[in-house]
Amino acid sequence: MAEIEREAMEYDVVIVGAGPAGLSAAIRLKQLDADLNVVVLEKGSEVGAHILSGAVLDPCGLDALIPDWKEKGAPLNVPVKGDKFYMLGEAGQVRIPNFPMPPLMHNHGNYIVSMGNVCRWMAEQAEELGVEIFPGMACSEMVYGENGEVKGVVAGVFGLEPDGSYGPNTEPGMELHGKYVFLSEGVRGSLSKEVIAKYDLSAGKEPQKYGVGMKEIWEIDPAKHKEGSVTHTMGWPLGSNAGGGSFIYHLENNQVYVGFVVHLNYKNPHLYPYMEFQRFKHHPMVADLLKGGKRVAYGARAITEGGYQSMPKLVAPGVALLGCSAGMVNVPRIKGNHNAMLSGKAAAEAAYDAIKAERSGDELTVYETEVRNGAIGSDLKKVRNVKPMWSKWGLTASLMLGGLDMWTNTLGFSLFGTLGHGKNDAESTEDASKHQPIDYPKPDGTLSFDRLTNVSFAATNHEESQPCHLRLADPEIPVKVNLPKYDEPAQRYCPAGVYEVVEDESGPRFVINFQNCVHCKTCDIKDPSQNITWTTPQGGDGPNYPNM
Ligand SMILES: Cc1cc2nc3c(=O)[nH]c(=O)nc-3n(C[C@H](O)[C@H](O)[C@H](O)COP(=O)(O)OP(=O)(O)OC[C@H]3O[C@@H](n4cnc5c(N)ncnc54)[C@H](O)[C@@H]3O)c2cc1C
Repeated sequence: MAEIEREAMEYDVVIVGAGPAGLSAAIRLKQLDADLNVVVLEKGSEVGAHILSGAVLDPCGLDALIPDWKEKGAPLNVPVKGDKFYMLGEAGQVRIPNFPMPPLMHNHGNYIVSMGNVCRWMAEQAEELGVEIFPGMACSEMVYGENGEVKGVVAGVFGLEPDGSYGPNTEPGMELHGKYVFLSEGVRGSLSKEVIAKYDLSAGKEPQKYGVGMKEIWEIDPAKHKEGSVTHTMGWPLGSNAGGGSFIYHLENNQVYVGFVVHLNYKNPHLYPYMEFQRFKHHPMVADLLKGGKRVAYGARAITEGGYQSMPKLVAPGVALLGCSAGMVNVPRIKGNHNAMLSGKAAAEAAYDAIKAERSGDELTVYETEVRNGAIGSDLKKVRNVKPMWSKWGLTASLMLGGLDMWTNTLGFSLFGTLGHGKNDAESTEDASKHQPIDYPKPDGTLSFDRLTNVSFAATNHEESQPCHLRLADPEIPVKVNLPKYDEPAQRYCPAGVYEVVEDESGPRFVINFQNCVHCKTCDIKDPSQNITWTTPQGGDGPNYPNM
């Protein structure tokens, strides 16, 4: 094929992804120097369209970035008023008192927010400062310079033929070059994955760990609504099958975020995370709350869980990984937005200093040092053993030992050192023959819903004539390996029903309904053969979340 010719545009800093990390970086750069040329590229149809968080926001990131956010009208309208933890059994629950919890677990001073709306507001702040933001522009390729440094990205490729070739309607996109490129794609970013592999940034680190988070917005009976209430649960229905838990956050307007996270290191390939979530809503405590209400939105997204010891090296020549592209979630707090913001700010400050010193295309080592030794490192370090303890010793032991470890870490030491994670999540999957299939109750259509009906509440959309963005390294593996060995778990781990095994006269066939994809990235993480690569579809495609 002839070399593709693309126009190139030059910037000081090119930012991939308009989440809290990318937008914070853009804002900070322009705060430091209004003359810097900064561009943010976002694959969602608008800023916020692909943002899915709980979310209880710790405002420390915003405080550092925009100290007068209140006066400027940031949509942080619901302070947390109550904070409850429950251990669930099938028919009841036990409340875990707040007093034994280390202070870092308390939600006092935090806000229940729509992170989609927070990002929309941050984008307005950035644009007022002169940042160029282009939604509907997916970054599909990295551009490397002559010396192996990152030089930019390719964005805005549209209208490829189904086989990936160029056709009459193809727009080749453009190259956006920067003195520095920030990858702020969130969890399991497709370009970040390439960059981590190319520069071997995970060398010497623990494997990254993940969960899949699913979330619905419910409008409930006003009599049951308690604005500002935060509830977390653990235990049923997951039991010993998998780690994870739920969150129930009461925001404004009688709305409630109901979410469920399943850790992706589960062994039993019969496990069906989406159905665990649906089953959870039938717990008497949850069912009582939701009865009479209606589900108005659904979405799903993976969440990074590896924490401090899994963060890759954050910089390579010309590029920096921000926020959850590097995995900055504090797992027991289920919070990463504050660290995403702080990382954006720190990367911007490092790039500003470098550009002022007429540098470009080198490693922003000051950023790396700030993340590891500053507020982010200190937040993540204190909780670094919680996830490995949960994986190794199960829920009850890890609750006690993890609590003890968080307390001692708050005082400055740990009895456990730094525990490792061992395997990655794909490797944790065991043969189907070692496990019993799980019999999930059929959704009742009132509290629980079948997957495809729920996906319609994510308003996801993909232009059908484009190539499938879910690439199989070997198309034979799903039926020849994954089906006999693991009962092809893609049928179950995908929270959007993208993958099916269809039986016809010629035998089983693996079908990919990429139109349903909600960009959660679970397949890229959990496929036991590591045969699926999530690549970005053309810009503007994917979910259209309202106020997730
Ligand atoms: C179910 C769930 C509940 C959570 N609850 C909370 C909570 O209560 N509190 C909290 O603080 N944190 C919570 N988190 C974690 C939080 O969502 C993340 O830490 C945070 O989103 C990280 O921000 P980010 O900017 O790094 O990435 P993201 O918020 O994921 O933003 C990345 C952006 O980049 C875009 N993008 C990605 N790739 C490309 C590309 N190639 N080209 C163009 N654009 C691209 C995406 O569309 C997206 O808009 C939760 C996560 C989940 C999944």
